[in-house]
Amino acid sequence: MEGPKKIGVIALLLVVIVGAALLMHRTLSKGTKPPTWVGVAPVEMIDSETLEFTTLPSAEWDKLGREGNRFKSPKTGKYTLCKPAICRECGEKIPMPALSEDAPPEKVDEIVQSYKCPKCGHLAFLDPAARRK
Ligand SMILES: [Zn+2]
Repeated sequence: MEGPKKIGVIALLLVVIVGAALLMHRTLSKGTKPPTWVGVAPVEMIDSETLEFTTLPSAEWDKLGREGNRFKSPKTGKYTLCKPAICRECGEKIPMPALSEDAPPEKVDEIVQSYKCPKCGHLAFLDPAARRK
């Protein structure tokens, strides 16, 4: 029962990690710029309410602060921003579901698996294996 779900979450984490690595690689390979110091690397966030993107150096995001996995929006002052994830259905960049720091793992799994993409309306992070049933 738990196996496929767990794989889904791991796959999701991998997507996020690979995405971050690619972003870092792109930033580092710009060549003419001075070396990228810690905290100045641009980090793109998506607003879970408006789906707008905002890019700030990572240190600026840290300064703004966050609640759970939601960062504070410099525009609205609300905790609605998060790093974008990719919808498995439509391939668009979408916000992750809101997760509190103290949510138990099985609850997180449930939230992630039942999360609907705000762009296409389909289950965004459902396992391809579970989808075929
Ligand atoms: Zn979608």
